Amino acid sequence: MIKVIRADITGLSCDVIVNAANQALRGGGGVDGAIHRAAGPKLLEACRKIGGCPTGEARITPGFKLAAKWVIHTVGPVWHGGDHGEAALLASCYRNSLELALHQGARTVAFPGISTGVYGYPKEQACRIALGIMREYEDRFDGIICCCFSDEDKRIYDETLSATD
Ligand code: ADP
Repeated sequence: MIKVIRADITGLSCDVIVNAANQALRGGGGVDGAIHRAAGPKLLEACRKIGGCPTGEARITPGFKLAAKWVIHTVGPVWHGGDHGEAALLASCYRNSLELALHQGARTVAFPGISTGVYGYPKEQACRIALGIMREYEDRFDGIICCCFSDEDKRIYDETLSATD
């Protein structure tokens, strides 16, 4: 089942929350900063040990002080107009994150809108890609949660989800 909610992802008690990380895995602004603050300094330590993550790939760490058991860090593409492979890279983020979650035995996974903040990916297009990959995997989880940070983002997800039912 795919569920759309409006929430702060750092407060969700599901098996996995996904982080919109950067290649260095060193924390940052936006959702990344919020997840690091809520998880505590051990998260940065775990990310340092991993070293980094190329765009489109995903890496897993424990959730430390978070209610979520695990954090999957995925690095979305920076939007450069759409003809630099952005769509394929964004799809890879969702696919690789869900594969990693399955491998970990996760039953519930929550995603923010990867790349739709500072990285500038147009929200409607990003939402269609996200939901397309989630649909492929939804039967293998108890829940895949689209965690929207604003009413406007939630409206986009709700509309896109019902248009592709
Ligand atoms: P990126 O660099 O991949 O664009 P951002 O963190 O800038 O990542 O934004 C990704 C998305 O996460 C945006 O839609 C933003 O509104 C959302 N976001 C920011 N903080 C939170 C949070 N605490 N919980 C859920 N979503 C968040």
